[in-house]
Amino acid sequence: MKKHNFGAGPGILPQPVLEQAAEAVRNFNGKGLSLLEISHRSADFEAVMDEACDLVRRIFQLSDDYAVIYLQGGASTQFAMLPFNLLPQGGKAAYVNTGAWSKAAIKEAKMFGTVDVVASSEDKNFNYIPKGYSIPSDAAYFHITTNNTIFGTEYQQIPDSPVPLVADMSSNIFSRQIDASRFSLIYAGAQKNLGPAGATLVILRKDLLGKAGRPIPTMLNYQTHIDKGSMYNTPPVFPVYVCMLTLRWILEQGGLGAVEAQNKAKAEKLYATIDANPLFIGTAAQEDRSRMNVTFVARDEETEKQFSAYTSERGIVGLKGHRSVGGFRASIYNALPLSSVDYLCQLMDEFATVNA
Ligand code: PMP
Repeated sequence: MKKHNFGAGPGILPQPVLEQAAEAVRNFNGKGLSLLEISHRSADFEAVMDEACDLVRRIFQLSDDYAVIYLQGGASTQFAMLPFNLLPQGGKAAYVNTGAWSKAAIKEAKMFGTVDVVASSEDKNFNYIPKGYSIPSDAAYFHITTNNTIFGTEYQQIPDSPVPLVADMSSNIFSRQIDASRFSLIYAGAQKNLGPAGATLVILRKDLLGKAGRPIPTMLNYQTHIDKGSMYNTPPVFPVYVCMLTLRWILEQGGLGAVEAQNKAKAEKLYATIDANPLFIGTAAQEDRSRMNVTFVARDEETEKQFSAYTSERGIVGLKGHRSVGGFRASIYNALPLSSVDYLCQLMDEFATVNA
């Protein structure tokens, strides 16, 4: 029996995507070859890369000012690649610190210039999104993490920025409608809403480049990958293929509007169940609650242990919270069906009836 997968990432992918990906590994496009054993320069794979980029353009309604590239090295490589390319020698960048991933991004940026941390929610173990700060107009860019996978907080509104806005969207990309034209650069590791681990999507305004004033190693230079259509070296062919399938699936669902409505319904149901349950407490500030990673703790340690066992015996996986928050984290990414959320809610209610 297929489990109900609430894992934070690599996370659940749509079932039809998994089936098509499995078939492509056996026999790609009916060619009698596996997707894993063909040249990335073949016409068949070039069509995959083109479509994987075009679908991002369509879904985000990107103008020609933007480039779409697929890279390797995960979002963690972007933490350094971004300032390497965009933070000029002697320049400054602004960051908001909303958790472990923001912190990791800040640490890397400090190697390339001055980092102005304009706001932080560390004072409350990152359980909220800071508001009401100002962004220096002489910063090269302003960086936010739109969804904080570990702490379960998410920007509900994108802040106005006087300088180019950059976002790590690893854990909520394609989960809601956004005005992509407000961002100068977006990056995301694929392994939550987009595909398997191994591909990293970067969307950027081309006019940002060429201003860093330092030599940039070829593989770490965005321009290389733009010029070569993400094929300067061998791209991660399988992850890119699965990203393409997932992007097709997003359009089949009705695009971001439909996906957002579904995600909103799932999150509202789960938060309402947590709030009504005497045994559990949500950890994130109400107005900043993530629609992707729902964090909550149990009333006491014994209850936590019992609920852990209760859910894992009943086909739920990936519910354990990150060690820095404790308790539980239900990741309810795009591909997780409402029926899995309904099932978790039912188990929470049943458990409370027996144990409250
Ligand atoms: N940013 C966010 C918001 C994340 O959730 C993660 C990891 N899941 C990362 C960055 C790091 O991504 P990667 O493992 O692809 O380097």
